[in-house]
Parts: sequence; structure tokens; C-alpha cells
Amino acid sequence: MTSLRLANLIDGRLQAPIDGHWLEIHEPATGEVFAHCPDSQAADVAAAVEAARRAAPGWGHTPPEQRARLLQRLADLIEARLQAFAELESRDSGKPLALARGLDIPRAVSNLRYFAAAATTWGSESHATETGAPDGGAINYTLRQPLGVVGCISPWNLPLYLFTWKIAPALAAGNAVVAKPSEVTPCTAALLGELSIEAGLPPGVLNIVQGRGPAVGQAIVEHPAVKAVSFTGSTATGARIAAAAAPHFKKVSLELGGKNPAIVFADAGLSDADMDTLVRSGFANQGEICLCGSRLLVQRPIYESFRARYLERVRALRVGDPRDASSDLGALVSKPHFDKVMACIAQARAEGGLVLCGGEAVAGPGRCAGGWFVAPTVIEGLPNEAATNQQEIFGPVVTLIPFEDEAEALAIANGTGYGLAASLWTRDLARAHRLSAQLEFGIVWVNCWMLRDLRTPFGGVKQSGVGREGGTEALRFFTEPKNVCIRY
Ligand code: NDP
Repeated sequence: MTSLRLANLIDGRLQAPIDGHWLEIHEPATGEVFAHCPDSQAADVAAAVEAARRAAPGWGHTPPEQRARLLQRLADLIEARLQAFAELESRDSGKPLALARGLDIPRAVSNLRYFAAAATTWGSESHATETGAPDGGAINYTLRQPLGVVGCISPWNLPLYLFTWKIAPALAAGNAVVAKPSEVTPCTAALLGELSIEAGLPPGVLNIVQGRGPAVGQAIVEHPAVKAVSFTGSTATGARIAAAAAPHFKKVSLELGGKNPAIVFADAGLSDADMDTLVRSGFANQGEICLCGSRLLVQRPIYESFRARYLERVRALRVGDPRDASSDLGALVSKPHFDKVMACIAQARAEGGLVLCGGEAVAGPGRCAGGWFVAPTVIEGLPNEAATNQQEIFGPVVTLIPFEDEAEALAIANGTGYGLAASLWTRDLARAHRLSAQLEFGIVWVNCWMLRDLRTPFGGVKQSGVGREGGTEALRFFTEPKNVCIRY
């Protein structure tokens, strides 16, 4: 089978990288190269920014209804090729095909549809100013204007899902975009680029530059014409981006890592469906979701019975060929990431953790013999201060931690540098409210996990990020407010 050769999208045309270098893209389930992606450099980014600069004024003045129509058309085109997108996403990232088909691609479609609709319905504020004079006063209104050219940089774990989560609001708000997907999973963004031409997006409105972070990502962040950067990825890269953007006073939105707790109280009365959700919250997408609950805190009176019920389910999870409908977990995204996760498991053992299940690599079946598979792993016996409970692993690894009461649960939950998402399991709504207010996280789910409503603010505190995405928060980020005061 011939290898797929991806292109950049610059100025409405598919283009090879200027200096002609390509990167090999591996299929995680087999370890084999199946695609080549442009290894772009600063010159490609400069060409993309120039194209975006030319396109920005026209796009910014295009009526929102027209922008929305084009985004809806792009969503239609993706939806019509749902299966092809899902197969490509699964092949590129190692995730189960069923997950790509059921979650990733539909959500990319929803992102485009949601922000298309939002562009036509959101409004700005106005304030009537009373001066005290009988017929005097003023009316203030806030103009929300697009920023011009913006940068969007996304990670490998939910490739098209997070790529569209950024470009959709940026485009809907009237900006021209220079976007970079992760070089580890570039395929579906490249396909979206092709479809954006078919959808009729004007040239230069959406530019996609493929390549490595330090070359392409950094060049986007440092380019003086890029007014804002929306980034999702690791905390370490986020810190580099914040430092590079600061001297230019650029707006940045940073969605970073997490070490999320799921907190189960003795009164939770967990149904089988709740148990399934808790298992999913640890192991969905091989644990490679920033929202995964990797620390499972369980109140002592139910700790042992919960552990037995939980382990029974985790042991039943099937790791296998992502194409196989019976696989619950596929392969980890890359060899370096596989090595990192295995090193974290070794570290947990060295710290004195007891591996209750998993803890090893799994040989893939048939064509997947060379793939990067890890068994779902549950570890107990480590204090919250252990590195295993402090560092983001971003793989199929969950630690069990017992607690006595609310105060201890809160101390453990808040006791890391991260603050993205927490889930609370209790029938006591007063407690849920009390703890939600005290949990240092941007998102709290009560008796559920990853129940997403695109209108809600999304993001983390502490080392999990700066700013919020979602709903009007994203539209606000991608626009500049200007107050106009008219005296009458
Ligand atoms: P990285 O930070 O390694 O990469 C994210 C993106 O940034 C990639 O496109 C990467 O390119 C690029 N990049 C790397 N270096 C630079 C740089 N110097 N300047 C600009 N861009 C750069 O994250 P991963 O791709 O490994 O993704 C996993 C991380 O993402 C986890 O920490 C996870 O928690 C986090 N995440 C956070 C979410 C949230 O909403 N808070 C959601 C999903 C994931 P390249 O791939 O070429 O290196």
C-alpha cells in the first residue's frame, strides 16, 4: 500500500513544504510508517501568516450568517465522510475505531455546527450611563471585533476533536487562522484542510501548517502578525508558549495537563452504569484524555468492596486491534509515549506501589504484533505525595487512594500542582455543592464524567492552564472588546 502524503493548506491551496522535508507518521497499532507529513519550517509559517493577513479583513467583514453557512458546509462534508475520517483517526492515533466513530469525529462536526450557530446568535453588552442631568446621559456599547490573524495549536490525543474546538470559534468570530495539529497525528486535520477548499472557505482564511512543535508551533507563536494563540497540550510546552508570547503582549489561551481526582463517597450508591463510567473515566482512549480521572479516591468504609467491583471490570477490558469492534483500548499513540508510560509504571513499583492489575505491555494480535499496547493498570498503596500521584502519566494507569472524610478527600484532591477536572460521587447534594466550591479545579462533575455541554466554560486552574474555552468564552477570547460611548 502506498504511503499517504499529506500537504499544508496555505492560501487555499494544498502545498508541499518549502524546503521539501517530510516526517514519517507511524500507525501505533502496528508500529509501521503509513504516511508522510510536511516537516515545515518558519518560511512555511510566514507564507501562511501572509495569506491569513490578506484574508483577514474580508473575512472579518463577512456577515456572520455567511461565515456560519460555510462552517456548516464544512461540517456537512465531514459528516458525509464520517467513516473515512474515523478510520484515519483510529489509524493515526491508535484509538479504537468505534471511539473515533462514536466520539471524535461526531464531536468535530458538533464543534463546527455549534460555533457556526453561536456566531449568529451571540451579542455584546450595552450600558446606559445616567449623568444626573434631566436630559443628559450616554449609551455605551461594546464592539466585539475579530483580532485578525490567530494561531491554533492542538495535541495528539483527540486530534480532530480538539483541532476543530479551536479553529471553529476562531473562524466563527471572523479571524483568519494559522493552525498546527500535532505532528504525531496530522492526518484528519490534513483531510479537513482539503474539505475546507471544497466547502468554499475563501483562500487564506484557514491555513494548516504541518510539522514539529519547536519549528512550526514556535514560529506561529513568535510571528508578530499573530495576535493570539490558543494552545492545548502539555504544561511544559504551555509554559514555553506563555514565555514566547509575553514580550509581544499576545493573548494566550492555554489548556494544559491534569492529574484529575475521582472522589467516591460511601453514600454514592454506585449502580453498574456508574461503575462503568468510573472505569471509562480512567481508561477511555487508553487514558489519553486530559479529563481522565487518574487518581481514584475512595472513602474507607466502601474501599475494599469498591476495589473488588472496580478490578473485576478493569480486568474485563479488552486491549486489541483498534479496528476490532470488541477492543475497549487500542494502542498508545507513539513509541516515545509508550516508553514514558512504561517508565511511570516502573517508577510506581519503585515507590512501593502495589500493581493490582495490568502493569505490563501487551502483545498486539495478528497484524498488531509490532504495536504499542499497555494493559489497563491499577495501583494502590502510594501516598498522594508519591511522584506517581503527582505527575501526569496520560496513559491507562489509575491509582486507588483511600480517604476518611471530606477534609481528607479535599486535601488529597487539591494536593497536586494541577487543577483541570474533578468528579464527585455522592448522593448528598449539600456535600457536592460544598466540595465543588472548595475543589481547585476548572471543572467539577457530580455523579457523572465528561458530560459535556459546548456552551459551558472549559479549562483549568493552577498548572492546568490559563483562560477558558467553550461557548461565549471562546468567542470572547477570539475578539477584542472596544467600548463606544455616545452622549445624548
Ligand atoms: P505537547 O505539549 O507536546 O504538544 C502540543 C502541541 O504543541 C503539538 O502540536 C506540538 O507539536 C506543539 N508544540 C510542541 N512544542 C512547541 C513549541 N515550542 N511551540 C509551539 N508549539 C509546540 O502535548 P502533546 O501533544 O503531548 O499532548 C498531550 C498533552 O496535552 C497532555 O499533557 C494533556 O494533558 C494535554 N491536553 C490538555 C487538554 C486540556 O484541555 N487541558 C486536552 C488534551 C490534552 P508536536 O506534536 O510536533 O510536538
